[in-house]
Amino acid sequence: MTSVERQRWDVIVVGAGGAGLRAAIEARQRGARTAVICKSLFGKAHTVMAEGGIAAAMANANPHDTWQTHFRDTMRGGKFLNQWRMAELHAQEAPDRVWELETWGALFDRTADGRISQRNFGGHEYPRLAHVGDRTGLELIRTLQQKIVALQQEDFRETGDYESRLKVFQECTVTRILKEHSLKDDSGRVAGVFCYERETGRFFVLEAPAVVLATGGIGKSFKVTSNSWEYTGDGHALALLAGAPLMNMEFVQFHPTGMVWPPSVKGILVTESVRGDGGVLRNSEGKRFMFDYVPEVFKEKYAQSEEEGDRWYEDPDHNRRPPELLPRDEVARAINAEVKAGRGSPHGGVFLDVSTRMPAEVIRRRLPSMYHQFKELADVDITAEPMEVGPTCHYVMGGINVDSETAATVGVPGLFAAGEVAGGMHGSNRLGGNSLSDLLVFGRRAGLHAAEYAAGAEAGAGLPEVGEEAVAAARTEALAPFDGESFGEAGENPYTLHQELQQTMNDLVGIIRREGEMAEALERIAALRERARRVAVEGHRQFNPGWHLALDLRNMLLVSECVARAALERTESRGGHTREDRPGMDRSWRPVNLLCRTEGEGIALERVRTEPIRPDLLALFEKEELAKYLAEEELESKGLDA
Ligand code: FAD
Repeated sequence: MTSVERQRWDVIVVGAGGAGLRAAIEARQRGARTAVICKSLFGKAHTVMAEGGIAAAMANANPHDTWQTHFRDTMRGGKFLNQWRMAELHAQEAPDRVWELETWGALFDRTADGRISQRNFGGHEYPRLAHVGDRTGLELIRTLQQKIVALQQEDFRETGDYESRLKVFQECTVTRILKEHSLKDDSGRVAGVFCYERETGRFFVLEAPAVVLATGGIGKSFKVTSNSWEYTGDGHALALLAGAPLMNMEFVQFHPTGMVWPPSVKGILVTESVRGDGGVLRNSEGKRFMFDYVPEVFKEKYAQSEEEGDRWYEDPDHNRRPPELLPRDEVARAINAEVKAGRGSPHGGVFLDVSTRMPAEVIRRRLPSMYHQFKELADVDITAEPMEVGPTCHYVMGGINVDSETAATVGVPGLFAAGEVAGGMHGSNRLGGNSLSDLLVFGRRAGLHAAEYAAGAEAGAGLPEVGEEAVAAARTEALAPFDGESFGEAGENPYTLHQELQQTMNDLVGIIRREGEMAEALERIAALRERARRVAVEGHRQFNPGWHLALDLRNMLLVSECVARAALERTESRGGHTREDRPGMDRSWRPVNLLCRTEGEGIALERVRTEPIRPDLLALFEKEELAKYLAEEELESKGLDA
């Protein structure tokens, strides 16, 4: 058998976005020798695309802001399905994580008196998003990379080797989590990861007692998406295959404003800052239609007239916010409904207008990327005319089930997860800006606890070993697409399979769902999985995108099945899961999480009860508001039912 090179580390971080880099920094600072591995170039993670900002209750723009208010907004945005302890830790720790970035060299936009500026975003009661124009993610990644380089320089001074304690393996993909036992065995501790180098196709194994998954989302399973090629649900699938369940995968966020024209750029994001800074949505009749779509639970918190909404930008303490700033799920559904009712824009979206709301130079200063994006990609000058926008698949709220404090996965010792790949924090719908803060808060926690776990493993039961058998099985699996030739004409093209999957998810498990369509999606996914067994790629292992996609397909198919199965099971509409045949939120589903696990070759679902929300956190809400969300038995047990 060909031998595969092995390297031993204390902690392996899979993913070099915000969550992965923050985890790696923490693990290294806690003394763990840490390897970071990422599919694309170092610094080119998804986080770099984040535009609007990072949410943290620093109270710079409004002194009334507190972590409690941020917690409340996050729970409301998630329709109370959030893992509440995560939402609490997130709200409490986000300001420190932003400050810390500044001490590492980040430079946020400032208020007139020199503090970090904070902008409005949907669902946030106060201006809360620290930002750098509309290029916040770039600054975040740049700063974390700079910190990593600084740590490597420190290590060089001590050891003569920059990479002795912190090494980045870029353009390398992990295809399997390796455990102490064989691939087929669900028990046992994590022992490492199996990887290939994209450029050469060379295989290698990184061994470590602790692995942090920070691989981001799943958007590339959908046809219209703001996500880049990296988002193929790898971490979700790796966890599933290692025996760690995924939670609440039915909740997929469709951002209300993606570009709709020209077709080549359909789905590219139009940041929510456009609305936060004063942009308004209109239909083909010129009407600001969002006033017709304020749901009952939010009625008291949003302006009833355009005049009041407009006054809010100048005087937020005495006016209510405009409904364009409702949480994303509400705005996306409203746009969808307007288009369906025949009041859409020429290319099947609605109009988003800043041109009549702000002077041209302010637009160019506050929204520079949006200005260039529309000018270059659509030949539209947003300082002079409205943009055409429509919903685009943007973010997955569902993810790996983790412990709120430690980011440890449930059931696989040594496996941790943070960032978009982890579930729970955002409930059924994420508020804008809450991802970047999530990455830093839980990235840090994952790094910290992975380092502690690794140290404990070495001192305790000893280091887990990766068996030859597991490596051989992972190698055979990765090479299988090259054997596709043996299927002759029955061989399947990975690009065709991918396109069919994207179309299926878009059409049948998209923004508005129906029972029959989801059942059909499951049949189509099963058929695609069958065909994927015969996937055939040409050429050799040196930089071969067809082969890479063939390997990614396994992950997208698994994750898509989880989304469709959970969506079919949850017979209500909540956040990023809207069912035409089950409109409205059903309170009896509030205390229910849906877990997906692998069972044989398929996916099995399990309903589990959520942990009761701590009384002091419930006390942050009015009794009347809780009565809109909590299930009857929850209200009774808290004495809130009278
Ligand atoms: P990522 O940053 O995507 O990093 C994932 C990493 O995992 C990458 O390095 C990738 O190469 C690696 N990887 C994946 N699979 C493998 C594998 N098999 N092997 C090895 N490596 C692998 N959120 C906000 O809070 N505010 C915003 O303003 C905002 N704007 C956004 C704008 C856009 C256009 C988009 C798409 C998202 C935006 N978001 C925003 C969401 C936010 O950017 C993401 O949720 C967040 O960056 C995810 O970070 P992450 O660290 O979890 O993953």
